[in-house]
Amino acid sequence: MSIGYALKSLTGNHVKQKVIFKLSFFIGFSAFIIVGFFWMRPISLKNSGQTTGLNFRLFWSPQSTQAWEKWTRSQIDFPSNLGLKVRFLGVTSVALTQGKRTLLMDGYFSRLSAGEALFQRNEPDRDALQGHLRRLGLENIDPVLVGHTHVDHYFDAPVVAKVTGASIVGGSSILSAIRLGGLPPERVVVVESGDSLEFDPFHVHVLDSNHSPGDLLPGVISDALSYPLRINHLKCGENLSYYVSLKNLGTSKGILFHPSAGFIPGRYQEFFRNRNDTLVFLAVGKLGNQPRRYCDEYWKEVVLATRANRVILTHWDDFFSKGMTMQSQLFFPIMRPAFDRVDLALECIYENSIRDRIPVEVRVNDQDFGI
Ligand SMILES: [Zn+2]
Repeated sequence: MSIGYALKSLTGNHVKQKVIFKLSFFIGFSAFIIVGFFWMRPISLKNSGQTTGLNFRLFWSPQSTQAWEKWTRSQIDFPSNLGLKVRFLGVTSVALTQGKRTLLMDGYFSRLSAGEALFQRNEPDRDALQGHLRRLGLENIDPVLVGHTHVDHYFDAPVVAKVTGASIVGGSSILSAIRLGGLPPERVVVVESGDSLEFDPFHVHVLDSNHSPGDLLPGVISDALSYPLRINHLKCGENLSYYVSLKNLGTSKGILFHPSAGFIPGRYQEFFRNRNDTLVFLAVGKLGNQPRRYCDEYWKEVVLATRANRVILTHWDDFFSKGMTMQSQLFFPIMRPAFDRVDLALECIYENSIRDRIPVEVRVNDQDFGI
């Protein structure tokens, strides 16, 4: 007997019965959602250990959490003999430093909470952002490369460019950075696939790619956009990847930033034909929500086609959280598809990595995260 029915039998008035029935249904359903929302298992990732084999089938058990931690290392030592410092800064933000020059891929440090992101207008805290970059020793950023202009890639980027004196590079949506960051137009560089840029000692080649399937905010950002903004104002714009090589690295060796889990079939094949030593920063956001065959295809198109010999995962962390946690999975299986199934993405990537003998790593360093 349902609560509504029980209440119904206790009350006589027909209108009252209807109201009570609806109310009890509403309370029951809300309780279901609330309990489900809080019954989560956040996985906190701390620095530890060396790369090791894992069994991701048991990923959500305590043992596999330990294994996951072992898969991570905080320092990126590629390629150590070149004096190149590589730093993962959360979501898809990665800093490459050589000498006095730092190149920043994407720029998202504010890590708005879900409540802030969904229910209010937001603006980067310039002082906090500047302090964060100073603490990380990232004051000499130039350029900021933008993959696409969704909040988790672009929200802070115009302000980063402003406070560091960097140029910002991306698709046509980054024209919005002129107003958002108060940047002079000559420091906003709109690029398209095939373009090459020099930021000595870095050589940057622009490649187009697709956003991960199910882009919730397609379209281009209005140039008139200003802070504080709603995150739905940050539309995708063109989705780009960047291949970065260094003068002293040789022509066949480089780093591919692939910041969204989409691909254009065959797109990378030709460009990487004569390149055989690629480190790929591979985005796995929303990859686990796709069918398994999509993930296998993604691996083929972005890792095998680029002749990668090393892969570092990005876009696996819960960007509504300030720390390095993976997105939690809800207790109720029925609600899980609404969230990013990073566990499934990692399982797929891990199996492909073992089969093709291409090492995959995850970088964890809480201190570099969030402001
Ligand atoms: Zn996106």
